[in-house]
Amino acid sequence: MDFRKKWHQWFRLLEDLCFPPRCAVCDGLLAPEEKGIHEKCRKKLYPVTGALCMHCGRPVSRPETEYCADCSAKRDPKFGFSDTFVQGKALYLYQGDIKKSMYRFKYSNKREYAWYFAKEAVLCYETWFRQCGIEAVVPVPMYRKKKRKRGYNQAEVFARELAVLLDVPVCANAVQRIRDTVPQKELNQKERKNNLKNAFHISKNIVKYSRILLIDDIYTTGSTADELAAEFHKHGINHIYFMSICIGAGH
Ligand SMILES: [Zn+2]
Ligand SMILES: [Zn+2]
Repeated sequence: MDFRKKWHQWFRLLEDLCFPPRCAVCDGLLAPEEKGIHEKCRKKLYPVTGALCMHCGRPVSRPETEYCADCSAKRDPKFGFSDTFVQGKALYLYQGDIKKSMYRFKYSNKREYAWYFAKEAVLCYETWFRQCGIEAVVPVPMYRKKKRKRGYNQAEVFARELAVLLDVPVCANAVQRIRDTVPQKELNQKERKNNLKNAFHISKNIVKYSRILLIDDIYTTGSTADELAAEFHKHGINHIYFMSICIGAGH
């Protein structure tokens, strides 16, 4: 076990001593034998299982369906589908109690939830991570001023936990959001794409990798992931995978 992992474990132990662990779903206190979430809260989640879209990883209604409606639309040649990420995976559908959890994770400094989500991600997708040959983990960046105001970037917090478990480096500064953008949820598909035009800058340090895992907390239409992937392609990084904690059910 390398130093980074050992240090991480000690830090976690110390953190648990100072702040009793709380459930990543309801934020209630956990009993010593409970790890990460309450058993009753696990039942309130909607894990992403069954037939999945081959591109974004959201559930599709029939096993013979290759792509969800969003991804099918993107496969239109006008969109330039070849510039996007190879494949994405998510843990939960963004519905029910996970929505409150994500809100606290994002806005209420509940960074400790990331440990549980990262552990679950490895449990569900370890084989996939290995097959993808991930060399580095890259969080979707937050605009600097916004990050300063909030104190942290939740995608980066999740990426750091995941990187420790996957034993790969995390490149938090590899890509920067160089201008503030309107929250994507307020825009339609076309506006989302325009909103993100030239919003990112990729540093030279990342170019040494060819297989990276982009990380975000929630995947909705995928326009952020697509735009970032297109930027990485420009720098010769062609094997881009995507992982999020939650994914919208789509249309
Ligand atoms: Zn709970
Ligand atoms: Zn899809």
